[in-house]
Amino acid sequence: MRTVLTIAGADPSGGAGIQADIKTFAAFGVDGLSAITSLTAQNRRAVKSTIPVPPAFLLKQVVVLLEEFRPDAVKIGMLATSANATAAAKVIKLKRLTNIVLDPVMKSSGGYPLIDSKGLSSIKGLLPVTTVVTPNVDEAEELSGVRIRDVKGMEAAAERIFSYGPEYVLVKGGHLKDSPTDVLYDGRRFEHFEGRRLKGRKERFHGTGCVLSAAIAAGLAKGRTVRKAVEDAKEFLEEVLKGRE
Ligand code: PLP
Repeated sequence: MRTVLTIAGADPSGGAGIQADIKTFAAFGVDGLSAITSLTAQNRRAVKSTIPVPPAFLLKQVVVLLEEFRPDAVKIGMLATSANATAAAKVIKLKRLTNIVLDPVMKSSGGYPLIDSKGLSSIKGLLPVTTVVTPNVDEAEELSGVRIRDVKGMEAAAERIFSYGPEYVLVKGGHLKDSPTDVLYDGRRFEHFEGRRLKGRKERFHGTGCVLSAAIAAGLAKGRTVRKAVEDAKEFLEEVLKGRE
């Protein structure tokens, strides 16, 4: 069975973070390994508190796993500290891990910071080892410095982020007012994935970014192209959200 490693925060409510990733991996028929970057106290409505794991212990978790397993893909989510981001970049380079999906998590939808103040530059430091980075509009603005109002803005941000080194950039348009379109950029052309605007209380959408990036990583582990992995992940996420109505 193919194996995917998630490096992310723990979510006791199960909809985001490590817990959501492991459920997603199981749904795709891949084995899940996990290295926890941070404990959190939260429910589906709000993050209340976090306790980051020290970077040396994050590294230890990954190194011990790699003594036994060789993951076919890695998903990176909440890192909590810039030191954890640096540790993740280090182990990915050292162990030549491939198929890296980076969800550049900066804060919860409620605004709780999920990485420290130096987080932005350390997330940028991960981009050269990243296969697909999956920012939402806010994260894409932070990473690129480009103000995004529409799909054209998403494309401009994707180009800038691409210049920092990832193989693909997927800017997610879910937070845009009238366009739930996602834009995938591979350095040559833009592909648009039209979405349907879904309604519901915010609890329904808790952890959607985590599920999407985990599903993309599972697809890559199974040998799918990035384009196909994104397409399948979006379909999977829609099914998950339907089940939460
Ligand atoms: N908790 C963890 C561990 C996460 O990784 C994330 C998002 O990536 C969240 C909470 C926030 O989830 P949301 O903003 O979707 O509620």
